[in-house]
Amino acid sequence: MTKRVILLEEGTTEMKGLMGSKGAGLAALLQAGWSVPAGFIVTTEGCRAFCTRLGHLSTEGVHEISSAVQDLEKKTGKFFGDSLVPLLLAVRSSETHSHHAESHALLHVGLNDVTVEGLARQTNDRPYALNCYRILLQDYGHLVHNIPYALFEEIWGNISILDEAKLEFAIAAYKHLIEDMGHHPFPQDVQIQLEEAIRSVSPIQRIPRPITQQELFLKTTEFSGEVQAAAVLVQVMVNSERGDRSGIGTVYSRHPVTGERGMAGEYISSAASQSREDGLNQLRDEEPELYGLLQDACCYLESRMGEVQEIHFAVDSGELYLVEIRQAKLTSKAALRSTVDLVDEGKITKEDAIMRIQPWQGKEMMQASSTLSPELQLLLEWADEIKELTILSNVDHPQDAITARAFGAEGIGLCRTEHLLMSASRFPFVQKMILADSEVERKRGLERLLPMQQADFEQLFEAMDGYPVTIRLLDLPLHELVPDIEVLNDKREQLRNSTLEESINELQELDRVIQRIQELHEHLPTLRHQDCRLGDVFPEIYDMQIEAIFRAAVKGIRQGLLVRPEILIPLVSHADELVAMRELVDHVADQVLGEEKRHCLYRVGAMIEAPGAALTAAHIARYADFLSFGTDDRTEMTSGYSRYNTKKPLIHTDVEQRLVSSTPFQALDIDGVGQLLEMALVQGRNRKPHLKAGICGENTADPASIAFCHRIGLDYVSCLPEQVPLARIAAAQAVILARKQNENNQDGDISTIA
Ligand code: PEP
Ligand code: MG
Repeated sequence: MTKRVILLEEGTTEMKGLMGSKGAGLAALLQAGWSVPAGFIVTTEGCRAFCTRLGHLSTEGVHEISSAVQDLEKKTGKFFGDSLVPLLLAVRSSETHSHHAESHALLHVGLNDVTVEGLARQTNDRPYALNCYRILLQDYGHLVHNIPYALFEEIWGNISILDEAKLEFAIAAYKHLIEDMGHHPFPQDVQIQLEEAIRSVSPIQRIPRPITQQELFLKTTEFSGEVQAAAVLVQVMVNSERGDRSGIGTVYSRHPVTGERGMAGEYISSAASQSREDGLNQLRDEEPELYGLLQDACCYLESRMGEVQEIHFAVDSGELYLVEIRQAKLTSKAALRSTVDLVDEGKITKEDAIMRIQPWQGKEMMQASSTLSPELQLLLEWADEIKELTILSNVDHPQDAITARAFGAEGIGLCRTEHLLMSASRFPFVQKMILADSEVERKRGLERLLPMQQADFEQLFEAMDGYPVTIRLLDLPLHELVPDIEVLNDKREQLRNSTLEESINELQELDRVIQRIQELHEHLPTLRHQDCRLGDVFPEIYDMQIEAIFRAAVKGIRQGLLVRPEILIPLVSHADELVAMRELVDHVADQVLGEEKRHCLYRVGAMIEAPGAALTAAHIARYADFLSFGTDDRTEMTSGYSRYNTKKPLIHTDVEQRLVSSTPFQALDIDGVGQLLEMALVQGRNRKPHLKAGICGENTADPASIAFCHRIGLDYVSCLPEQVPLARIAAAQAVILARKQNENNQDGDISTIA
């Protein structure tokens, strides 16, 4: 039968699931020879069996706990409920994953109207004993009956000096409050106190479902999504709040805010009533041996757990007791620094370090600064040694290209040229050219645009010297390039009512523009002259863009740069579209390179977004040097969601309010959109085994999406510049996870070879 009560000395670290992390950690410390107050654990299994039946402990539960208490009586020579030498207990929750749950504790359990006097005599300090009783009543009222702390505080006020009369008054008032609001008097029977304490600190907890990659694989038992009661730790109270050479404190094995090496924390000696910033220094000066022991404990625990530790300790007459240990909560800065240092000290591996970085931490690290800290830089270098995916960036403007390079992007995976052409300085020329009646006029507009586009590309090639620069030809619905007809109609009305001479000319031009817009008008514009089909209506635009790319490339080559243009044809739906566009690219490239007498290697790729393109990827692959999967349009067209309307999460879970997935535009919908993508990739590679392929939508930096891309064998992921560091880490995490999964699978294999 699974154990329901375990003495601390019987526990092991492997029993974390049963004993909770606090209990298992203390058991390990005890066995390693550290001073830990004697105690026992009511296991998760015990709490489930004892505490969930009508809210009462069962008879066998009471019996097992009583024998564990008797064991503590033997060890301490004190007796639970005894009027002369009362044994007092601390009852704390011991969750299996301390970082998710709030801890609860009831201290001084075992005090009542009689035993409090025993404690007063024992300690020769009645105010102290009364104050312990007051604290027990307050915590009991709050935890057992849900009475707000504020009501107790109202009675107690701001009293700092322990005065017997005031304490007696507060104790009486607290008892009334408990009876009034809890409908039961505070139990004088210490056994009942203990039972209620155990039940109240072990709330039923739902173990979170795994979300991050680490949780998914490394800690599957801790993130099961099941409902479970927390284990409960019952320990002998250490008398640390009074007497000479006594006190309590909390230390961290490294600084929890900065991550700096060396023990940090605070200590309040019983002589000082308030916490002092230099309390720990005082302890070092006054009790050097004890301070050294604490340092040793920090080192021991950190080496054993491979994590920064938080230790709550008590000092009773110069004796050190480790009361509670847990994984320290750190700022992202501290988490990063300590992780890197732990690798340096040989306490964890580089892989461990990489697996530790959670997406939110990475985001915080990036928000804090636009440059990478030395620690993050190092971690990213380790990630690069491991990862297999190439991380590119979606970059339009040259300045962003510089940022992306600084963050470690290995090229540009998508430059949306429409973002360049729609800028305030260029858009008027674009519109003029579109609305022009004659070819001459249109050419004039394009001649103005060409040097501007060329300058953009020159800067991109320079920033990405040696790396691929994927430039997508204009990908816009036609209607976004023409002025709003309603605005023009209003203006026409105004001009018609005007009597001014010059208005007549203006009106004539306006009529022409409106007529041109009507000619270009289309129903369902997003499904008509968008993407490469725009090249059918206005081939001159693509001519100009391709010319600008190759003129910029030649200029870069002349300057000694290694230029790698990759021209991406937007939203290809059929292989024939790619054939036509490829001819155009080759034709213009031949012209420019011939004229300039230069050679430049380039690639022409297809953007696979429409489901039809995915289904015919094998045909498209024949004419493509690479495939770029645009997951935004792909998601819209596959799932029927608009990226502009999907403000709210579409999929979420109520498991402890943890969001599993927000929108499919933030995290790839692996089951649907992902499947189509994988199918297209397989088809494309069947045709061309070494076909380069990657994704470039907005949802690419999500770690689960990156793990998927790694699993199916994509070559690259292209994301926003500020997401590049996180993507590098996620790509390395994907490799580590895949390796571990492989190892696990092999462990489970049955060999048929003798
Ligand atoms: C996409 O559709 O995924 C994509 C990258 O293109 P855009 O967002 O420009 O439509
Ligand atoms: Mg798109």
